[in-house]
Amino acid sequence: MGFNIAIDGPAGAGKSTIAKAVAAKLGFIYVDTGAMYRALAVHFIRNGITAGEADKIAEALSGVSVSIVYEDGQQQVLLDGENVTGLLRTEDVGNMASATSIYGPVREKLLDLQRELAASADVIMDGRDIGTHVLPDAQLKIYLTATVKARALRRFKELSEKDSAADYEAIEKDIINRDHQDMNRAIAPLRQAEDAVYLDTSEMDIDQVIAEILRLYESRRAGA
Ligand code: C5P
Repeated sequence: MGFNIAIDGPAGAGKSTIAKAVAAKLGFIYVDTGAMYRALAVHFIRNGITAGEADKIAEALSGVSVSIVYEDGQQQVLLDGENVTGLLRTEDVGNMASATSIYGPVREKLLDLQRELAASADVIMDGRDIGTHVLPDAQLKIYLTATVKARALRRFKELSEKDSAADYEAIEKDIINRDHQDMNRAIAPLRQAEDAVYLDTSEMDIDQVIAEILRLYESRRAGA
């Protein structure tokens, strides 16, 4: 096994931005597991399936494949061989991913892929259950969070750059819903692993968070 860094936390905590930057600094591979749930969400939406239809969801999983390739160091998600990476980062797809990630068969479908990637290289993997379930032996685990307000404001700023009609209230509501769904589901809910370092980034900028994770990494390495 390579060196594994697990980053978990709620929606909008900055996990992917931070994990990408840390991966670039350390020469690690960044694995975005949320993108895998989002790819399956695209598949369900395309097939006209709604989030409550557990049987149809289980059925739709049997014929589909999700795989990952890297282009110029960037993760690309393939759905039955089609690169769907550009379709994944919408609020609709995120909400569908959150609503369908509660199902055991959905989570099972992605688990082997996630573990294989971590076994093959030094990786920094982000998601909701990486430290608690996917990579329980990761050498460094971080629980990255921020207040609802800080997270909603960050997402609002990000969306406002692309869409002048971005609606702060709707974004905050989405974040509260996603937190509730991710933290209260029966299977692999979002929670801090006992051996994870808790990092509240509400009052930190990106560079400070990156520096703190690099410091933690160096001290783990030295202690290993
Ligand atoms: O991180 P991102 O917002 O892309 O994740 C989309 C959704 O996928 C999350 O709200 C969560 O419900 C689900 N997810 C999960 N476990 C992971 C990663 C994401 O349940 N490891």
